[in-house]
Formats: sequence, C-alpha cells, structure tokens
Amino acid sequence: MDYTKQIQEIATKLFTDGKIDIFIGYRKNSFDDNQVPVLITHPADISRLVFDDKSVFNLTNYLKFENTRNKRVGIIVKGCDSRALNMLMTENQVKRQNLYVIGISCTGVLNEQGAKAQNCLECVMPDAVVYDEILGTPAGKKEYIVNADITALATQGLVERGEYFQDIFENCIRCNACRHSCPLCYCEKCCIDQETSALYNGANTVSSAFHALMTWSLHLAGRCVDCRNCEKACPSHLPLHLLHKQNEMVIYENFQHHLAGMEKDDRGAFYKYSLSDPDDFIL
Ligand code: SF4
Ligand code: SF4
Ligand code: SF4
Ligand code: SF4
Repeated sequence: MDYTKQIQEIATKLFTDGKIDIFIGYRKNSFDDNQVPVLITHPADISRLVFDDKSVFNLTNYLKFENTRNKRVGIIVKGCDSRALNMLMTENQVKRQNLYVIGISCTGVLNEQGAKAQNCLECVMPDAVVYDEILGTPAGKKEYIVNADITALATQGLVERGEYFQDIFENCIRCNACRHSCPLCYCEKCCIDQETSALYNGANTVSSAFHALMTWSLHLAGRCVDCRNCEKACPSHLPLHLLHKQNEMVIYENFQHHLAGMEKDDRGAFYKYSLSDPDDFIL
C-alpha cells in the first residue's frame, strides 16, 4: 500500500480550507529508509508526508499531548490505530469534532526484518473503524487468531514460563518508553511513577519491573488494541505483546468475544456487566 500522494492532497486541502491547525502523519528518516511520526503545522512541509507499509506507528498517541489537545487535527489511522481512537473518544480524551480522520484499509506493515509484522498476520480489523474518508479497499472483519507465541508458551511448564518471564523483567531497564508510547496510557499521574511507593518506584530491579509491567498490562486489559507501539518503542526489544495478548485472549473467550475499540462508545469489557458473564475466574 502506498497512499503518499492521496494523503498529501488531502492534507493540502485541509490546510487550504482552514479546517486544521496540525496534521499528524509520517515522514522518512533522514538516515535510513524507516519512518517516524511528524506533526505538520505549515502547508510548506506537506511534501514531507509519506504513507506506505513502513508507516508502522500508531499516531493517536500524539493526541494526548499538550501541543495537540484542543487543536483541530488531521490524522491518519490504520485499523488498529482507529480502534485506539475510538477508545480515546469513548474515554473523553479526544473530541471527534476536532479531528479530520483519514482512515486506511490496511494491508499490513513491515517489521524490522522487512517481513509482515506479527500483529498484522493476526489482525482482526484491518479497516479503519472511524474516519472522515477512507483510502484502500475495505477487507472487513477477520476471524480471531490466538497469538502464536501465547500458544507456544502454553505448552511449557510453570517453571519454564516463570524463568522466561523472569528474564523479561530482568532485561527491562525501567525507561517507561512502553507506557509513554501507548496511546491509552494518558494519566497525568500514573501510579507507576509514584517514587515513594514500595511497589511502584523507578528502581531497576526485577521486582519493580514486574510490578510496573504487570500493573501496566492490567490497566490495558480490555483496552489494548494490539498496535504494538509499546513494543516498537522498547529499547530492550522485550516481547510485551505476551502480556497484552494473554489478557486480550482471556477477555475474548470470556466476555462475548469483546475486542477493544471496535465500536463507538464501547467502554470496554470491564465496564459492561452481563448476567451471562462467567464469574469462574479473576483476571
Ligand atoms: S494490525 Fe491490522 S490495522 Fe494494524 S497495521 Fe497491522 S494489518 Fe494494519
Ligand atoms: S499496550 Fe501496546 S499494543 Fe496495546 S494499545 Fe498500548 S501501545 Fe498498543
Ligand atoms: S499504566 Fe495505568 S495509571 Fe499509568 S498511565 Fe497507563 S493507564 Fe494510567
Ligand atoms: S520500554 Fe521496555 S525496557 Fe523500557 S520500561 Fe518498557 S519494557 Fe522496560
């Protein structure tokens, strides 16, 4: 997929018509072939915009910052990104009337090895679910696929799994890039940042990494859209999707096939009570 030309044309018209103050898109790195998010505030910079299968990041993360809040923003969303946008709107973090949303019917993005990213291979909804105009040919909702790494881990014993996760927590450097790159982590005072807490502090220990990452993943349970922005940001290349996909899978199985952000005004699995919900476990 390559929608560079169309997106440049749409952004030009939005600025010309005075409909936006900022356009959030992607631009090429100056030192390699990869892309980074870019916030365009002047039409002269529109020629920097690109969009193709290297447009990997979830741009809705930039809607939570001071420089875009309460501004009129043009933004590009792939299927997973648009589900995060739905969550942000439902959670009253973003006003729909302030946005012009270019949706993408996504055919997948590439990982660092140049192959299709794992979350794209398992993607349930490649089409943007919220948009003002959509580019590409909608493919529709796909069958839910249980994550291959979760399936593989399930075949191991408790001790092996424990050692595997111990290794993950040992390699966490407590930089918090995962949390800062997640669009759905927008709390002004995150509980993980409480330096005076015995559980949540900045110490680079296995125990504090465990508490931070487990708390984080539980705060994303029923809200995570599997965009993997967090994982892409992790300098230790930790497989953070294991935490989120496990939660997603349990919720999918136990809460009427719930997936975060698929529908407008859906507040998430934990906000909906149904008599038919099983109560034979605690997530
Ligand atoms: S997870 Fe789906 S919507 Fe998101 S980038 Fe991959 S294919 Fe596109
Ligand atoms: S936890 Fe990671 S995968 Fe889930 S929504 Fe946040 S950034 Fe995306
Ligand atoms: S980890 Fe929890 S408290 Fe911290 S920003 Fe994310 S949702 Fe908020
Ligand atoms: S980005 Fe990676 S290393 Fe940094 S806190 Fe998150 S898991 Fe740990």
